[in-house]
This record gives sequence, structure tokens and C-alpha cells, in this order.
Amino acid sequence: MTHHAPVILTDPRILAAYAEGAGIYRIIPNAVAIPCDLDALRRVLLWARETGTPLVSRGAGSGMGGGSVGRGVVVDLTSFREQAPSWDARLLRVGAGVTCAEVNAAARRFGLRLAPDPSSCAFATSGGMAATNAAGPRSVRCGSVRQWIRALEVMEADGTVRTVERGDGSRRWRLSSAARDLVRHSFPRTRKSSSGYALDRYVETGDELDLVIGSEGTLAVITAVEWVLEAIPPDVGGVLLGFASLEALTEAVSYLVALNPSAVELLDATFLDLIRGAGADLPANLAGLLLVEFERETASAARGVVGDAVRGLKALTAHVETAIDRAGLARLWEVRRMASPALARLPERQRSLQVVEDGCVPLERLGAYVAGIRAAAGRRGVPVAIFGHAGDGHVHVNALPDITRPGWRDSLAGLFGDAVDLLIELGGVPSGEHGVGRLRAGVLERFYGPDVMALFRDLKRAYDPLGLLNPGVILPANDWAPLADLKVGADAAAIPADVADRLRAIERNASWAVPKVDLAALTPDT
Ligand SMILES: Cc1cc2nc3c(=O)[nH]c(=O)nc-3n(C[C@H](O)[C@H](O)[C@H](O)COP(=O)(O)OP(=O)(O)OC[C@H]3O[C@@H](n4cnc5c(N)ncnc54)[C@H](O)[C@@H]3O)c2cc1C
Repeated sequence: MTHHAPVILTDPRILAAYAEGAGIYRIIPNAVAIPCDLDALRRVLLWARETGTPLVSRGAGSGMGGGSVGRGVVVDLTSFREQAPSWDARLLRVGAGVTCAEVNAAARRFGLRLAPDPSSCAFATSGGMAATNAAGPRSVRCGSVRQWIRALEVMEADGTVRTVERGDGSRRWRLSSAARDLVRHSFPRTRKSSSGYALDRYVETGDELDLVIGSEGTLAVITAVEWVLEAIPPDVGGVLLGFASLEALTEAVSYLVALNPSAVELLDATFLDLIRGAGADLPANLAGLLLVEFERETASAARGVVGDAVRGLKALTAHVETAIDRAGLARLWEVRRMASPALARLPERQRSLQVVEDGCVPLERLGAYVAGIRAAAGRRGVPVAIFGHAGDGHVHVNALPDITRPGWRDSLAGLFGDAVDLLIELGGVPSGEHGVGRLRAGVLERFYGPDVMALFRDLKRAYDPLGLLNPGVILPANDWAPLADLKVGADAAAIPADVADRLRAIERNASWAVPKVDLAALTPDT
């Protein structure tokens, strides 16, 4: 059967603009497609089948694991922009390209919002968030986006469009009872995970939706998302707590989580050192700070719980600041927001590289994980800044190697290996919210074992028998090499210098919402 040929862009400047995402890679694709509707997308998929061309689904390109860059044809889904609300039912159906910020802007007028609050809300697309099972600080209370998706519209590898809904069960792929037992026994028990197909959730619900959420573009292309929204709680309170030891901090996290907070964020000593350099005024000798937020139905309830937190943790804390309204809370959060400007100010030779950035461990192992990462970073001579979602046992690590130092790549690879060993020892997972991407694909088997990996491969075959949807993501390519194709260093793929500069500016300013074709446009000075 022949089909109308899809529109495929091959201008080298456009390919360069799509060669990088937020993570560590630069991989120049063979072509780019920017379909504007289902028919145009179907043409791309059918042409890919006929020609055996791999496809890389892409939203804003802010994903960290390298899932939105690749050698095949990058399919930019940001033109899927419909919005269809059912405000009475607190539902909002949007096209895959509608960002989290746009969802919130539409919902806010009705006192509603998307409950999970990724820090990348300004640019992360609905398709990208569903595909990575994104989360945020508030996930300590509301979970990841998985709990807030009622349905997905997907286009399958053969061009069929289907709606996959909560409660629909699954006809496409089933697990035997032996396989269900295997999954129950082999999945780590962390509060969060975006580490491969969520067979554990699928065993609980039987819903195909749980297979597609978090599938990182490897099972189907998501074309629309139906979000479940929540009412914005009227009152807030917060507290910033400093600790002299990681043991005290870890003990405090368990206490705080029991108070039903809406965020328990860690700013580790390594992070505090980084922002001190950028002018933050902080007490000395802290092992870390916890930034805690509470949302309540009344002001007195918000005040009450702030008081409970301060009193309950008196014996453990070395520093306390409180907030009992939104303005005060915003002041407390300023310290967390200093990270991006501090990272942006680093000298060009010291790059922030996300290679061990998303590990998640059982809550009680948090202190051991942070201490282990600090020790590994010291051993390997790679500075790190550790911060993130303490209430979920989930911390981000920005590795900050000096890329003019001989052997920096080996040191970084060593840190990657040490972090994997540590996560396995502590019963953790390699990704709490960013996804596996290409970076972590080759380590999944060490977390789940060969039998679960065989189930992953069986699932992939059921949805994508020709292996054209994002090959090398979640399931590793035969030549998997996590630190190949880096965007930094002398071996980085050659792209026009002005496009490279604009990509670097996007990374520094976190301006991933900029349309990538704009980066390719020629300016008078080029
Ligand atoms: C500064 C910064 C802060 C961040 N903070 C957070 C945070 O707090 N929480 C969090 O979870 N993440 C965070 N991230 C990571 C990133 O923003 C999320 O993973 C986000 O969900 C990715 O959305 P995107 O549109 O950029 O997707 P992309 O990067 O374009 O894609 C990510 C993955 O999803 C797949 N995909 C994208 N769209 C589709 C689609 N329509 N159909 C099928 N597959 C698709 C891609 O193939 C890829 O595998 C942050 C990133 C940055 C740069």
C-alpha cells in the first residue's frame, strides 16, 4: 500500500536544532517531522513502517534521559494544541503539545490546577509529562501524573488512533499469574518511579493506561491527554528547617511526611555551597535544609501544622524559619529557586551534567543515599549539587565536572556506576520522575532481573513489533554506551556554531518552550 508522503525536514540547521534535549546528549537526527494533525502524523508512521525508519516522539525536549533525541526521525508533537474542558467534572482534555503551564492557566480561572507540579511546568508538554510519568515537589502528597490522567488518545505504530481510559482494562497484553507474582516480588518499593514499564501498577489495576503512562514514546505516540484537575487549597504555611547531620534530617523527613505536607524538599550541603557562591545568606555548618510546605482548607489549620512541625522537630533542628501565608512561603522558596541562576553562573569549563540525577530510594534510606553519593563524588573528584524531593526519598544530583581536566569522562562514568551500585544496595530505582531514556536503559536489568526484562521485551513487541518507536529507550540498544554522544567535549557532533550557542542559551535559561525551528532560522549575523 502506498500513502501520501509525509513532510520531512532535512535542512542541516533544523536537524542541529533538534540534536539536543535537556540531558547530556547531542545526536543529530536523520530528519524531523512536525505533523499538525492526526492525518499528518499517520502519514509519518505509515511511511516509517514502509521504510523501516525509527521515530523519536518529542515534546519540548526538556526530558533528562535522552529519550527525545535520537538518530531516526524526530517527530515534534508541539503542534497538537486542542483544549476541551469539562470544568464541572474537573477534566481538561488537551492536545499533546499543550504545556503544563497552559493547562494551569486555563484551569486557574475555575479555582483548579494540575496537582503534580513539575519544576519544568513552564515548558513540559502534556504528552511529554504522560510519557515520562512526570512528578514534582507536590507529588509527596498527590503522587505523579499517573494518578491525574483519566485517558490518553494514542496513535499506534500502525497508524490506528485509540483512546485508552482508566478502568478500561487491557485487551492488547496480559500477564500470566506467574508473571504477576514475579512482578510483585521484583519491583523495588520506592514511593516514586519512572524506571521502565510500570508493570507493578498494571498488576494492581489491570489498566492498559498504566502501561502507556511512562512508556517514553516506545509503545505509541500520545496525541491527547485528559487531565483530572484538583481544587486549589485556599491556605498555605511553610517551614525551612536546618539540620546538623543527615541522620537528623532523615528522621525529620519521616515525621514531616506523616503531617501530610504538600512538599518536603531537600537542599543538601553540596547545594547550599553552590548557592552560597551565588550570594545566598545561609547559616554555616548545615548538613542540609528541608523546605516544607503545607496546604490546608483554613488559615488556622495551616498555622497549626506549621507549629506542630516546629515543636515536633525541636530536638533535631539547628535552624528554623516559618511562613504562614503565600508571600512568606514564596520567600522561603527563594532559596530553592537560586539553583538555576547559580548553575548558569558556573564557568563554561564546569558543566552541569545529568547522569545520576534521578535516583529514588525508600524513605528511610535517604540519608544513606545522600552520604553515599557525596562519598562517591569525592572519590571520583566530580563536584555535585544534591537537592530534590526528600519526602519521596528522591533526590536530583547535578554532576559538575571540569571538562578541561584530563580523565573527566572516566570519573563521570565511575560516578554513574557507583550511583547504580548504591541504588541497588539501598533498594532504590534509577529514575523517580525523569524516565529511563537512553542513559539508564542498560542498567535496568540490574534492578529488575532478566525475567522482568523479558516481560518488558514482550510488551514492547506487542505494541511495536517492528521496533520503530524510540528504539534504545527503556530497552537498551545492543551498543548501549551511556556516556557516548555527549553534547560537551571535543567529540561532540559538529553542528553550526550559532545553533549550538542558542541551544546552550536554552539550557542555561531553561527556555525549552522556544520552538526548535526558530533556533534554526538564520539571523543577520550568521
Ligand atoms: C529545568 C528543568 C526542570 C525539570 N523539572 C522536572 C520536575 O520537576 N519533574 C519532572 O518530572 N521532570 C522535570 N524535568 C524533566 C522534563 O521537564 C520532564 O520529563 C517533562 O515531562 C518532559 O516533557 P517534554 O515535553 O519536554 O518531553 P520530551 O523531552 O520532548 O520527551 C520526553 C520523553 O517523552 C517522550 N514523548 C514526548 N512527547 C511524547 C508524545 N506526545 N507521545 C509519546 N512520547 C512522547 C519522548 O520520546 C521522550 O522519551 C525538568 C527538566 C528541566 C530542564
